[in-house]
Amino acid sequence: MKFNKYTLKILVVLLFILGSGIVFFSGFEINRAPQQLSTKDLRTQEKVSAPLPKQFDLRVDSFEVHTYQVERNQFLSNILSAYQVDPTTISKLVDKSRPVFNVRKISAGNPYTIFTYKNDPQKAAYFIYQPNPIDYIVYDLRDTLNVYAGKKDVSVKVETVASDINHSLYEALQRKGADPQLAIKLAEIYGWAIDFYNIGENDWFKIQYERQYVDDKPVDAGHIVSAVFSHKGKELSAFYFETDSTAKGEYYDEEGNSVRRAFLKAPLKFSRITSRYTNRRLHPVQKVWKAHLGTDYAAPRGTPIIATGNGVVTESAFSKFNGNYVKVKHNGTYTTQYLHMSKRAVRPGQRVQQGQVIGYVGSTGLATGPHVCYRFWKNGKQVDALKQNFRESTPLPAKFLTAFKTVVLKEQEVLASLIPSTGDELAASNELDDREGKTL
Ligand SMILES: [Zn+2]
Repeated sequence: MKFNKYTLKILVVLLFILGSGIVFFSGFEINRAPQQLSTKDLRTQEKVSAPLPKQFDLRVDSFEVHTYQVERNQFLSNILSAYQVDPTTISKLVDKSRPVFNVRKISAGNPYTIFTYKNDPQKAAYFIYQPNPIDYIVYDLRDTLNVYAGKKDVSVKVETVASDINHSLYEALQRKGADPQLAIKLAEIYGWAIDFYNIGENDWFKIQYERQYVDDKPVDAGHIVSAVFSHKGKELSAFYFETDSTAKGEYYDEEGNSVRRAFLKAPLKFSRITSRYTNRRLHPVQKVWKAHLGTDYAAPRGTPIIATGNGVVTESAFSKFNGNYVKVKHNGTYTTQYLHMSKRAVRPGQRVQQGQVIGYVGSTGLATGPHVCYRFWKNGKQVDALKQNFRESTPLPAKFLTAFKTVVLKEQEVLASLIPSTGDELAASNELDDREGKTL
């Protein structure tokens, strides 16, 4: 067994559990784990003391174990009453559960497991509810009632995906068997540089990312470790690096410059421009030639609108022409405004972070369909947001450069080995040539 700090961490946790007999542990932080943080180590150790198979850390030898899905109108009470649990016991359980889990949150579609006695299969010994693939709540129904929370072992694997984009980013990720949610993560990293509504036919990407597994099934795509995105012939690299073990890491290019900029390209993660900034256009509603001092992005009603930069909300209001709108002052130089929202999500005076949701796409005010009109002021004068060129934000502090360069070299080696093929195996059978309907 390789003795790294993660193995050590696991052993410490294990000793703690064995020593104190506490089944519940939650502080099992999975940070950056380029190595496989596998559950195998845990299982091997468990076998020494518990040779019998376990589920939810419970020995199953004298029980029958059944797993079902919560159906509509199923609650703790009607699930348990079918297994000889009386109403008094159920109400005691509800009370005992309160500090651990609110039983009203038991919801349809999630799995639950019942342990019944082998010699009395109609009688329940344990009820276990799983609100998500990682967490579970154990209701111990034996003599003294007990309710506690537990977590399944999560293993984190670093996986790679590389592809041409011949239809959309989502489609490319899906075709490669990767989590399509990675599209959102990519958009977050490259939001400052890439027009995601305008991904070219020759664009491609290579990604190394963490994926969480529970019981050998992928449950979530963790963060992207490193990536190269080729957009319009230009390769943009991003490497994840943590300067502080307590804080979230940042993405930097190979030189250690932050990939984040003062402003994002667009106030929506995925959208398309329907009208650009111009001094003269035929107004779609008023049917007269007017200046359009903003950029219109069409998106389905309800799509989250994000602040393109950090700042303070100066206005969050409704007006006849703007509909529901929000105005954000970023600094002494720049101010942005977002119009026609179906709903606003911030109050005047509120501080917002770049990427924070400030409202939702709608068509309030003078608008033909759901879109956001994005307006940009520089020194009090309206300008075309798409024509602004912003400096990048703070680079990596010099003291981290040596450590960072080591990471970059390692990541680059992996990325270089990936080939962004189209993976024709599926593309050939799926007729995905409808370039017109290109979406992300
Ligand atoms: Zn507009």
